[in-house]
Amino acid sequence: MAPAHDNRSRSLLAQFDTQPRVRDFLARAIETQRTSHAYLFLGAPGSGKLDAAWALAQALICEQGGCGACEACVRVARRTHPDVRYLAPESATGYLIAQVRDLIEEVSLAPVRANGKVYIIDRADQLRASSANALLKTLEEPPANVTFILLGTSADTILPTIVSRCQCVPFRLISPEAAAQAVTRATGLPLERCRMAVAVAGSPGRATEFLKSASRQEARRAMLRAIDSLAHADEADVLSHAKAITLAVKAPLAEVKSTQEAILKRDEEYLSRGALKQIEERNKRELTARERSGIMEVLACARSLLRDALVRVEGISSEPVNADVEDIVGRLASEMASSVSAVHALEAVEAAERAVSRNVTPQLAFEVMLFDIRKALTCPS
Ligand SMILES: [Zn+2]
Repeated sequence: MAPAHDNRSRSLLAQFDTQPRVRDFLARAIETQRTSHAYLFLGAPGSGKLDAAWALAQALICEQGGCGACEACVRVARRTHPDVRYLAPESATGYLIAQVRDLIEEVSLAPVRANGKVYIIDRADQLRASSANALLKTLEEPPANVTFILLGTSADTILPTIVSRCQCVPFRLISPEAAAQAVTRATGLPLERCRMAVAVAGSPGRATEFLKSASRQEARRAMLRAIDSLAHADEADVLSHAKAITLAVKAPLAEVKSTQEAILKRDEEYLSRGALKQIEERNKRELTARERSGIMEVLACARSLLRDALVRVEGISSEPVNADVEDIVGRLASEMASSVSAVHALEAVEAAERAVSRNVTPQLAFEVMLFDIRKALTCPS
């Protein structure tokens, strides 16, 4: 039989071989049971902080330190473990004070299923003044067996009072190519497919999930089809494409929703009405957060395709990131009068990202974006 520690941090080992120092540091902490009660993962977007946070959560929640196979590990991997909470700012200006109050209240409750609880707090730089102050005491002295994992790009953008209460873990910047190679190792899929997935999903872990999800890939195809049609599309075509993309983005949520409902139904008997209501609220928030990340993902698909076309228009001979749709890249490039068209089209994607973060409905954001891209393709100026 293999020694126990070989098994112990399998989720940590498998998840992010692009950050060996972080991986070894965390694996050692788990093995020696000397984990900190608050971590601050620092690194550029795409460095795999969120993947690492989920892997660490798995290692902390699993009784075998993250075996990757038990029910707890599977639940964490599917993001349905009730004792691992993920938080992101709920308003365009950052974390709401109400969000942080809910969190603090919840921290003191006993875990539902595991021996401990983990809170992943994304974009900690958006914890400002009042919301940050409310959190400080909890961060400093959380109840036993509660671990916080905060994520941020750099310590300079996070309030010093927060930084000083956490153990900082720096993530190095990894190149898209190194990320794609890591995804190839994890999935066994061809490198060119993995390059596309990294461009779309951002980090190796999310790219791996993207490649496993048929519905997320279908949402990408809906976006690519729409952009491919624009040069010859009338108004009704554009609107129906925007609708098709919206529906395709929502499709992956059906599975999340049915998992949520199944868990709720099963736990109904032994949870109080208050606890049930709280879980329902949380489920609703989770669906909203997932829908938003799906929207951002299809917008990343649009950006990646338009960049490929821009590269082609500029006459740079390199393999497109979206190698599987080279025909679409070629058509788009030939429709573009000059790189100005591509630049305007890319600006339309950025405008859509801003609109979505200001809570404009996705369908409207897609409509405006597609009309603007059509304009960039058909009447460049
Ligand atoms: Zn496990």
